[in-house]
Amino acid sequence: MSADANYSFFESVGKSFDKAAHFTKWDKGILTQIKACNSVYRMRFPVKMDDGRIEVIEAYRAQHSHHKAPCKGGIRFAAEVNQDEVMALAALMTYKCAIVNVPFGGGKGGIKINPRNHSAYELEKITRRYTSELVKKNFIGPGIDVPAPDYGTGEREMAWIADTYITLNPSDIDGLGCVTGKPITQGGVRGRKEATGLGVFFGIREVCNMPEIMTKLGLPLGTEGKTIVVQGLGNVGYHSAKFFRELGNAKVVSISEYEGAIYCADGLNEEEVFQHRKATGSILNFPGATNLAKSSDALELECDILIPAALENVINAENADRVKAKLIGEAANGPCTPEADEIFAKKGIVVIPDMYLNAGGVTVSYFEWLKNLSHVRYGRLEKRFTENLNEKILGQIEELTGKKVSPEQRELIMHGPDEIDLVHSGLEESMISATREIVACWHTNPEIPDMRTAAYVVAINKVANAYTELGIFP
Ligand code: NAD
Repeated sequence: MSADANYSFFESVGKSFDKAAHFTKWDKGILTQIKACNSVYRMRFPVKMDDGRIEVIEAYRAQHSHHKAPCKGGIRFAAEVNQDEVMALAALMTYKCAIVNVPFGGGKGGIKINPRNHSAYELEKITRRYTSELVKKNFIGPGIDVPAPDYGTGEREMAWIADTYITLNPSDIDGLGCVTGKPITQGGVRGRKEATGLGVFFGIREVCNMPEIMTKLGLPLGTEGKTIVVQGLGNVGYHSAKFFRELGNAKVVSISEYEGAIYCADGLNEEEVFQHRKATGSILNFPGATNLAKSSDALELECDILIPAALENVINAENADRVKAKLIGEAANGPCTPEADEIFAKKGIVVIPDMYLNAGGVTVSYFEWLKNLSHVRYGRLEKRFTENLNEKILGQIEELTGKKVSPEQRELIMHGPDEIDLVHSGLEESMISATREIVACWHTNPEIPDMRTAAYVVAINKVANAYTELGIFP
């Protein structure tokens, strides 16, 4: 989401908040507290670069809400990082966590550098110094504030953060839980990479299973046979397309990238398209598909579900009127502008909002943190027990019926859960319950115009409830 011309990013998040707060019954003081960004640590520190030069680095960590601990949110490395942006992104994290019932307050960090202008060794020094500054001010720790990757950061940086924190806090037995998004060999969790795309699939599938919404849209229930258009074949777009094809039996009829878009009425296989793009340098000229003149033409195709999974503001006042999809699943952050939202509300197009639809990443981060605190891989304790039990049950059934199950069925029934099974199942549960809560809120008040406002109302209610139940200290 980005700011419009007259508001800072933080103010525009506040405006969306106010719009939704209007549908709640909370005391003005509580609402003002929820909206405020509680703490911001702005720091400047020197780092000696490879050529001996000393560069002063500007960096931030914002903790938007402490109604639950720890705070949670990514750290971005980008030249545009500023205080307003980290505060706004931290606020969005508070609401996102509340919606998917991840018991964290919102946080966000940023270092104002272009990572491409630095060597790996310089990036390591910057990351470690930033972490030590957070440690000094008590702004990081498994029970205080737990960063994660964002633009310009990944597993490598998260491993450096964990190592620095643990070096400075050697007696903290839960030290690995100070950051998520770590490599699996360093306390990371299986399933993080595909989490956001899989969450997008689970969220949209749940909406497709709701008769009251699908009837209004004039669509049959379920995802089977639905036509899908995906914008962006990056991490989120690729995995959304994959799960719609594999688990949803849907047809991904078009995929767009920045160089162009392709269309195939029979459905595209995202992995083949990905390999084609890797080999030829472009998504265009994929065998069996038609090229579209402009990349953005894909957004205006006739289809059931449109999944923008690339950039913000791509569907706006200029093109929203030409969008023909019945359902839009916001996989990217802020792909539809407020003007587009108004047009869709009038046209009866349902927009499933980014704030919860792309919460798969933070949900699985929560599972990683829990794994770190419990010091054991998911499934390690129960896998063999379950398999042995299943074998006994199956043996009994076969004996009683005198029939044998097929080898494939045997494998399926016997299987005890691995870490990946439990992570996917926890994500499925989180996305299904969040979808149901938001839709229930939307339908209980006919004044609430769209699912986005309903998502905010759900988030505000949960945070306000925490403040009310806990009371105000002292
Ligand atoms: P990514 O960089 O892996 O993928 C983005 C893709 O979009 C790239 O392949 C890029 O070439 C393509 N693209 C750029 N401009 C385009 C255009 N004009 N038309 C079509 N395609 C274009 O990034 P990602 O991790 O997949 O993130 C995508 C979006 O999802 C972002 O808005 C991000 O903030 C959001 N998101 C990501 C995660 C996550 O876990 N990765 C979680 C929550 C939200």
